[in-house]
Amino acid sequence: MQAKADIVIIGGGIVGTAVAFYLARERMGSVVLVEKEKFLGAGSTAKAAGGVRAQFHNKANIEMSMLSKRLLCRFKEDTGADAAFDQVGYLFLLSDDKDIRVFQDSYKLQKSLGLDVHLLKPDEIARRAPHVRIDDIKMATFCPDDGLIDPHEFVTGYEQAARRYGAEFRLESEVLDIGVTSGRISGVRTANGEISTPLVINCAGAYSGKIARMAGADVSIKPYRRQCVTTGELDSVTPDLPMVVDVRTGFYCHPESKGLLLGWSDKSVKASFDISIDPDYTDSILELALDRLPQLETAEVANQWAGLYETTPDHRAIIGWAGEVDGMFHNTGYSGHGLMHAPAAGLITSEILAGKKPSVDVESFSPQRFAAGTIVEETNVI
Ligand SMILES: Cc1cc2nc3c(=O)[nH]c(=O)nc-3n(C[C@H](O)[C@H](O)[C@H](O)COP(=O)(O)OP(=O)(O)OC[C@H]3O[C@@H](n4cnc5c(N)ncnc54)[C@H](O)[C@@H]3O)c2cc1C
Repeated sequence: MQAKADIVIIGGGIVGTAVAFYLARERMGSVVLVEKEKFLGAGSTAKAAGGVRAQFHNKANIEMSMLSKRLLCRFKEDTGADAAFDQVGYLFLLSDDKDIRVFQDSYKLQKSLGLDVHLLKPDEIARRAPHVRIDDIKMATFCPDDGLIDPHEFVTGYEQAARRYGAEFRLESEVLDIGVTSGRISGVRTANGEISTPLVINCAGAYSGKIARMAGADVSIKPYRRQCVTTGELDSVTPDLPMVVDVRTGFYCHPESKGLLLGWSDKSVKASFDISIDPDYTDSILELALDRLPQLETAEVANQWAGLYETTPDHRAIIGWAGEVDGMFHNTGYSGHGLMHAPAAGLITSEILAGKKPSVDVESFSPQRFAAGTIVEETNVI
């Protein structure tokens, strides 16, 4: 094990692992990733619903997704592994006139950026999603090459390829402190030894605020509990059905192991690191699901879990150098979009560190935007 590294990545979720892959592949120096748990992807990544979509309201988020989808399409070529990217599409159901206006604006922006996105009328919606009640739905937007991925295969693929390019992964190595000498990062102290390094990349997801504070820096990220439920086998479900999002309520569902995965963001949840399952939260998901999918009346709950959204005040990631200390780069705060944006997150970090122009202009993701008051909110948050 090295006691010295050119770059230490803190956090072995999908973002840290993707960053490790791109830095190692681009030969950016010795790379060590430290993760506090026994396996990679044990944090929010393991809890993700697997959705990948480019239908955002914010230009930079659309571009992050479009780049990530291109990288996902060549994931096997790049890593040798299959992330099971299944492009079944995302269907956003619209019943409120206010939402329709916002989605029509987003549609125009998405089209102008080259996204293959469509406005659907009710008869076309019924053809795409015959399992869903749509008598109150006026319109939908649909992007056929949005889709689903398997979080576990995704992390493992990046990890194994990064190892082949020379990156080192240290598990059960919680970062306990970060050394700063004369305003510069000098090393990290982990539960498994010290590593001297001039450069730390903060990919600790919901825990990124704690990591930043160890170095005297700050990132505006709060953890919010989010839950999912899966059903047993359902006759009405075929694997080609799209991800369906009911925009009015925020309820979403997609095919999962011959049944459905059901999810919803309870916006009344208070910020905390609590990931115990709240039965009332589960009941709310089931209630919303029954309203949209009446055939679930007889369905069984197969599984349920809770995880954390690593949420910023404007629901957009934080990518860039910490202003308070030299040598700390934040790549975090994806606010519920981290799985889908991880490929772009990894590539862009390697480009910035190499002094190149990043493939997506991430100036608006700067850690300093909150203090500067230059916030542009992402409103299409599920
Ligand atoms: C219910 C749910 C559904 C979701 N669905 C989707 C979806 O469909 N699509 C999508 O794109 N996103 C989804 N997300 C969001 C997605 O899971 C996250 O955005 C993404 O996993 C963030 O990845 P990450 O690597 O930044 O964070 P994490 O996966 O949380 O990784 C951070 C890692 O840092 C480690 N760590 C923390 N502190 C330390 C320390 N001191 N020392 C060492 N290691 C440390 C943690 O153990 C963890 O493994 C969902 C999230 C939830 C909860």
